[in-house]
Amino acid sequence: MKIPYFKPWISSEDKKSILDTLNQRWLTNGPKLKKFEKDFSRFIETKFSIGVSSGTHALHLAVRSMGIGPGDEVIVPTFTFAATLNSVLYCGAKPILVDVDPSTFTISTKELEKKINKKTKAIIPVHYGGQSCDMKEILKIAQKHNLGIIEDCAHALGSKYKKKYCGTFGKVGCFSFYPTKIITTGEGGMVSTNDAKIFKKISLLKSHSMSVSAVDRESKATWKYDITDLGYNYRLDEIRASLGISQLSRIKKINQMRINIAQKYNDLLNDIEGLVTPKVKDDRNHIYHLYTIKIEDNYHMTRDELFVHLHSKGIGTSVQYYPLHLMSYYKSKYSFKNSDFPNANCLKDKVLSLPIYPTMTLKEIEFVVSQLI
Ligand SMILES: *Cc1c(COP(=O)(O)O)cnc(C)c1O
Repeated sequence: MKIPYFKPWISSEDKKSILDTLNQRWLTNGPKLKKFEKDFSRFIETKFSIGVSSGTHALHLAVRSMGIGPGDEVIVPTFTFAATLNSVLYCGAKPILVDVDPSTFTISTKELEKKINKKTKAIIPVHYGGQSCDMKEILKIAQKHNLGIIEDCAHALGSKYKKKYCGTFGKVGCFSFYPTKIITTGEGGMVSTNDAKIFKKISLLKSHSMSVSAVDRESKATWKYDITDLGYNYRLDEIRASLGISQLSRIKKINQMRINIAQKYNDLLNDIEGLVTPKVKDDRNHIYHLYTIKIEDNYHMTRDELFVHLHSKGIGTSVQYYPLHLMSYYKSKYSFKNSDFPNANCLKDKVLSLPIYPTMTLKEIEFVVSQLI
């Protein structure tokens, strides 16, 4: 049996949706993107959504839109993907890394507050694996020090803290539709905000900061436009937007299927010595973009041995994450103190993310578990 680490779920409706779009004349900046953005706003209950070409670009635009640049500092957890940190570097600002909570792997609010100074402009909490950060505490800290919050929701489309969706707490929420993520458009991303000014700024920046788009120039019979800022081509085309519409239409089902699989894993793995299943806090849900277990010292193999063993049985797994403060580029650029990150330093040798995808069968789950016992 071959069980990949992830499998995108592309339905026949998804394929039909893409084929229909290929009959349109404008293959970008059209009705599909507008509908995808509208559906997205309705789902997470935000005022504005802006489709973009990746989650990384969503983060870059979010940092840019807040006017962050050289001389500014932005706080980022060390236990995340490089894109979270790179969005700060793209803007010429300084990233300040913070350790994570040892049970949820989300940013440690206690450590976070210690890193704030006069240069700090924003915090980028990452809702690790599909479980929200402690947003009550983060909002409190941000308010106290007048900081912006950019939520990295790459894992968290449909995650809630209390009764509210992730991506609606901060100034901006950033989502990814990379093939491993909750829904996919191949490559793609979304920015969410309730702030009209941020919405306007990001809408311009993502398309060269042109005052009038090509589509609008055609319908308005004018060739004139102005360039108002240093913008980018970070657009989400119509083909990918139409796949997004179709995928988003079954988001509740997708997340329920993930939760059911995680529940089954929990039931089957709970009593295994040295193996710790994901911990979920009472005031939030978990949609299990990742099902990450911890391999403790009293397990009969190390994490690395288990990785190799599972691979030999045809089971794909992954390590999320090898901390950013240990990556050579960032290490050579900034003088991080290794002793600032005891939890991440410990987790890096213990975590293993097991296969999880909506169409995973009970047989597949049981086979994975049989190789862990
Ligand atoms: C995937 C991911 C991103 C980047 O998204 P892309 O769409 O791949 O650019 C950012 N942050 C985190 C935590 C991610 O997992």
